[in-house]
Amino acid sequence: MRTISKSKFMSGRQCPKRLWQEIHHPERADEYGAGTEFTFFQGHEVGALAQQWRGKGILIELDRRNIAKAISETQEALAGGAKRIYEAAFEHNGFLALADIVERKRDGSWRLIEVKATTSAKDIHVPDLAFQAWLMEQNGLSVSETAVVHLNNQAIWPKDELLTMSGNTSEVLAAMPEVVKLAKRLSKMIASTTEPDIEIGGQCNDPYVCNFQSHCWKDVPADHIGVLPRLSEKKAGELLGRGWTRVAQIEDVSMLSVCQRRWVSALKSGKPYVDEAAIHNWLSAVKYPLYSLDFETVSYAIPRWKGVRPYQQVPFQFSCHRIGPRGGLSHQEYLHLSQDDPRAALVDTLIAATGDSGSIMAWNAGFERRVITELADLFPRKRAALLAIADRLIDLMDVFRSWYLHPQCYGSASIKAVGKAVLGSEADYSALEIGGGEEAYAAWHQRVFAGGPVEIEKALREYCQQDTLLPVKLLEFLQQR
Ligand code: SF4
Repeated sequence: MRTISKSKFMSGRQCPKRLWQEIHHPERADEYGAGTEFTFFQGHEVGALAQQWRGKGILIELDRRNIAKAISETQEALAGGAKRIYEAAFEHNGFLALADIVERKRDGSWRLIEVKATTSAKDIHVPDLAFQAWLMEQNGLSVSETAVVHLNNQAIWPKDELLTMSGNTSEVLAAMPEVVKLAKRLSKMIASTTEPDIEIGGQCNDPYVCNFQSHCWKDVPADHIGVLPRLSEKKAGELLGRGWTRVAQIEDVSMLSVCQRRWVSALKSGKPYVDEAAIHNWLSAVKYPLYSLDFETVSYAIPRWKGVRPYQQVPFQFSCHRIGPRGGLSHQEYLHLSQDDPRAALVDTLIAATGDSGSIMAWNAGFERRVITELADLFPRKRAALLAIADRLIDLMDVFRSWYLHPQCYGSASIKAVGKAVLGSEADYSALEIGGGEEAYAAWHQRVFAGGPVEIEKALREYCQQDTLLPVKLLEFLQQR
């Protein structure tokens, strides 16, 4: 009989086909990216902090090749009168749960606590706890209380407590009967060699990004209606209801927004949708010297630096290209390479690099504005200079989100999609060692906090430079059309 662990149960709850593939075709799964690995790492850090926070207890060390040992050690701890157990293992009829924290209460019943690296208790934690509570009860323990230990995103490190606990006993107890029924159904389902017939849909990204998308989505046409930006479920349903799964099939655009209609026009014609007047207006507002700016940030669940909140984004790198009033391209950058707070040194370099006049172009400038405003709040003496930088920001993404829509972007305004569609191979990120923001912060953490190789520094510089050079090239493209 195959064992269904809690994580497998949660996969099956999201989509039975996901669980079935995990069991029968694990080779179809997409590899975890650097960002996901970093998320796992953060989860472990929060788990360890939660154990310190709750205090003394018996830790059941898990050896995945010998789960039986963890189960028997848990039983020994229980029989020995343990008051608190970390990573207790409970098994029943082919179902397995490793409970983050279980605590014996005065009346002999148990408090079950799940530790999450989130900033609140969420609905999705309810079935997760209900599954564990069911297995505890099957092992003869009475669960009278359940809760989620999570981060408090208002806490300021190191002065505030980072963790807090939210109770959800009534929801968990109410969910148990359904959870038990579902667990039994899933157990039968995985015994079959027939793959569940389940269409792709909203469940592929909700509540978690499913890692079988490369397989399940492989036959989805590039112009599937889902590429239309901000298409509500209701409108998608209406389009599908009329038999239009591809944008090319849409015959009536009256139910779509202005921007969605523009994308329909570009995708059906195979030619870019161009709003010349809007582009001309945007270009004529650009002031020289012109700067192209991009930050890389890291957000730790458990802050590393004084005054930082959980998951606050802290910039550790920027790249800045400058085009002079008479042309000429120059470049400046900053990459923090020590374990202390990157922000003070970064701010000084940023102020020097961006001068005091001219537009500062960014891609999705709201992000750069937010980073700079937070820096201004942190450094009162540099506040005026930083806010002046924020005031000079202009957003090149606006042009490619609304007024120049290339059919090869398929509804995306990401710099990668636009760069590739408009500039071709010179905008290729695949040749770079680091090809995305998640990889960048994971690599930076690796280099600075985990002794990663020195080559990471070059890779980070190349990646961030690419993010500011491409906007320069895209601007030239717009000007020279
Ligand atoms: S990609 Fe979607 S349909 Fe496929 S297994 Fe995952 S959730 Fe299910």
